[in-house]
Amino acid sequence: MKIAVLKEEQPGEARVALMPDSVKKLLGLKASVLVESGAGLAAARADSDYVEAGAEVSADRTTMLAGTDVLVTVNRPSDEVFEALGKGAVVLGFLRPLDEPAQLTPALERGLTTFAMELVPRITRAQSMDALSSMATVAGYKAVVLAASTIPRMFPLLMTAAGTVPPARVLVLGAGVAGLQAIATARRLGAVVEAYDVRAAAGEQVRSLGATFLEVDLGGLKTEDAGGYAVELSEEALKRGRDLIAEHARTADVIITTAQVPGRRAPILMDEAAVDGMKRGAMVIDLAGTTGGNVEPSKADEVVERAGVTIIAPTNLPASVPVHASQLYSRNVTAFLSLLIKDGELNIDMNDDVVGPSCVTHEGKFVNQNVFVAYSSRVNSK
Ligand code: NAD
Repeated sequence: MKIAVLKEEQPGEARVALMPDSVKKLLGLKASVLVESGAGLAAARADSDYVEAGAEVSADRTTMLAGTDVLVTVNRPSDEVFEALGKGAVVLGFLRPLDEPAQLTPALERGLTTFAMELVPRITRAQSMDALSSMATVAGYKAVVLAASTIPRMFPLLMTAAGTVPPARVLVLGAGVAGLQAIATARRLGAVVEAYDVRAAAGEQVRSLGATFLEVDLGGLKTEDAGGYAVELSEEALKRGRDLIAEHARTADVIITTAQVPGRRAPILMDEAAVDGMKRGAMVIDLAGTTGGNVEPSKADEVVERAGVTIIAPTNLPASVPVHASQLYSRNVTAFLSLLIKDGELNIDMNDDVVGPSCVTHEGKFVNQNVFVAYSSRVNSK
């Protein structure tokens, strides 16, 4: 059984899907691993590191793909890569099945079995495979470090002979995995941190990190689903949140927004007026850029300057920390692969409560119902 890893093609991508440590684990499952030459370079792993771990390195992508049983990627592969794989091959990666389902047509037509890391259920058994959490952790950390190195002031409270330097004030909107990591990192740098989320459960987690939780009266409204995810709120409930945020934004030096609702456009938490109410020299980092953004004036992967406030919405911060992002991702996909491989052979059990729900396409059909609905609505609306 051959597992292949390619050099990622997306501009700016520095991560690699498998690190050498994971190669050793996969060999232990009696699989062999093929790595495209240079695949790990941007994540500080040379071809020789892969060879040492027991992988075969090749510069011949076409031959490599033709003999591949499982292709492991970070980003969704190009159409050419889908087409170069043999019928029935398996692809595992961030495939964006819900927001870009039509781009999976080549995989569907080729009869590939595709698994999306975004769809891995967040149940206890699958915690080691939760790549969304791994990447959110890296993004939350990096957002704070980026802000700290950009704003024209320091983060910690300093008492010096020249007087006292007050601590920076950081406001985090959305206290899920990325938000909590941002809070923890900002606290470590000495900032005073406030955070807001619609899920009541987030309050305790925010407070346990030494931050203040901003509460808004949503009139007993249901804010989360059975899986613990936020649901889309009514305009009135969103407005109450926005008013509270605008008030606290006035004193913030840094705002980091991470609010998302699975399968929907990200909620707008700050409008232009809220940004205009901020201090000169403040910075907003909108981490919801891939799903439309939380901040009205933000633009994905662009720097927007507005009344002395810098707004950025980087859509791939994990790629800017490629060693650790790849290490975590590689462990996540390796844990998932261990469910698919038995005695060196592919053994796909669609009844497994992690494998089945993560599958996007199989034998020319969409397996995941939500993806099928998203695909049909896109194709029919064309
Ligand atoms: P996410 O990326 O979907 O959203 C980020 C945060 O935005 C969430 O906390 C959400 O409540 C918040 N949000 C959504 N709409 C908002 C609004 N209008 N205003 C303010 N905040 C809003 O979520 P996530 O970080 O991936 O995690 C969501 C939940 O899943 C959390 O409860 C998390 O602890 C849980 N989780 C569980 C597991 C597990 O059990 N294995 C793993 C990871 C996450």
